[in-house]
Amino acid sequence: MRHNRSHRGNVRSHHGLSDVRFSACPDCGKKHLPHTVCENCGKYRTRPVLDVHSKITKREKKAKDKAKAEAR
Ligand SMILES: [Zn+2]
Repeated sequence: MRHNRSHRGNVRSHHGLSDVRFSACPDCGKKHLPHTVCENCGKYRTRPVLDVHSKITKREKKAKDKAKAEAR
């Protein structure tokens, strides 16, 4: 249905995006999206969910392998 100019503005006044909100992690204090796992420590509301440490060791291993490959 066609609106006149003022009605169009009225409708669009409600189309603005709100700011992204973050909540602080109770474990490490880093900000993360609410209702999501903390990327820093891998915990959801103090409950460990992600295995962050194995990921880090995996990454270190990968970096070591790369360094080895470059040394050859
Ligand atoms: Zn955390």
